[in-house]
Amino acid sequence: MTPKVANFLASSALTTPCLVIDLEVIERSFLRFRELLPQAAMYYAVKANPAPSILNLLSAAGAGFDAASVPEIESCLAAGSPPALISYSNTIKKQRDIARAYELGIKLFAFDSKEELAKIAAAAPGSRVFCRLAVESSGAVWPLDGKFGCSSRMAGDLLRTAPDLGLEPYGISFHVGSQQCDLVPWNLAIGRAAMIFRELSAEGLELKMLNLGGGFPVPYRSEVPPLDDICATIRTSLAQHFGNRIPDIAIEPGRAIVATSGVIRTEVVLVSRRDESVPERWVYLDIGKFGGLDETAGEAIQYALRTPADGQECGPVVLAGPTCDSVDVMYQNAGYQLPLSLCPGDQIDILAAGAYTTTTATVGFNGFSPVQQYYI
Ligand SMILES: *Cc1c(COP(=O)(O)O)cnc(C)c1O
Repeated sequence: MTPKVANFLASSALTTPCLVIDLEVIERSFLRFRELLPQAAMYYAVKANPAPSILNLLSAAGAGFDAASVPEIESCLAAGSPPALISYSNTIKKQRDIARAYELGIKLFAFDSKEELAKIAAAAPGSRVFCRLAVESSGAVWPLDGKFGCSSRMAGDLLRTAPDLGLEPYGISFHVGSQQCDLVPWNLAIGRAAMIFRELSAEGLELKMLNLGGGFPVPYRSEVPPLDDICATIRTSLAQHFGNRIPDIAIEPGRAIVATSGVIRTEVVLVSRRDESVPERWVYLDIGKFGGLDETAGEAIQYALRTPADGQECGPVVLAGPTCDSVDVMYQNAGYQLPLSLCPGDQIDILAAGAYTTTTATVGFNGFSPVQQYYI
């Protein structure tokens, strides 16, 4: 938590749950990528946090955007982004949404199937298209494989057909899985993409862009490899697999741009036990799976917590949300411990909560409002 966020929380009596984002941290994260991967064009993954103040800041700093829907595209345009810096990267789009994006000036589209490529050809003639490759995502806390990406062979075949469809075969993208804590998948994915570049080049088809996607991890409860190491791996891998013919590089970080900028302040509603003989306490917060903590599904993303009594004697807890749904339990097996003195009314801060929290909240399940947001 930055001093700016701490002061804001201390000086304003905010209703909980609330998310406070320090925009300076977002700017610093953006500049860090520019320093570590100077050759990469950044397309911020809007879904991580689409708040207008974030999009305005990044647009002014010169970032592009990875948008997944027409409303996301419109938000980026409203933030002042030129259409040329917006990539419609969702591989699952309605044809009329492709047409609308094209009308709005978008000329860069992702696909991972023949059927999607045909829709782009029909609704966005002459556009640049890039194919999303299925890659290994083991080591990712929040894997994105299975649902997206095609085989290398299919990627090559589809890119070959693009010119006949009136499209420009522009490049390849992949996503190694979100919160990817292993360095190997980057190298494997870059190697696999390079093979397709070489194969097509031998036939006279020169792809121009390699999009490395997102996946850059942030520290939650555990340490993660530093961004320096990941970017060094990427630079080495690009040189190893592409030699002196490195294509234009794009990245689509989401989490790594916004996560550490934000803190969610919550209030303890109830601390109870299932039986007096059981040491484990149930701690119910005023935020849960439906209020913004969607990424606790499967106890995947394990947020670091701060309480006013940190440092005092702790005991095991189950952490749950306030709604009347039994899936609204965040952590039962992850080994969380909280101070024994914890009681209703205490405030708990959830750290690094700036990504994938605001828009994944339900509109008000059980009458509980989504997390309130403050951008400072
Ligand atoms: C979600 C997403 C990203 C961002 O991933 P992070 O792990 O948050 O960096 C990037 N690209 C695509 C296509 C995505 O769907």
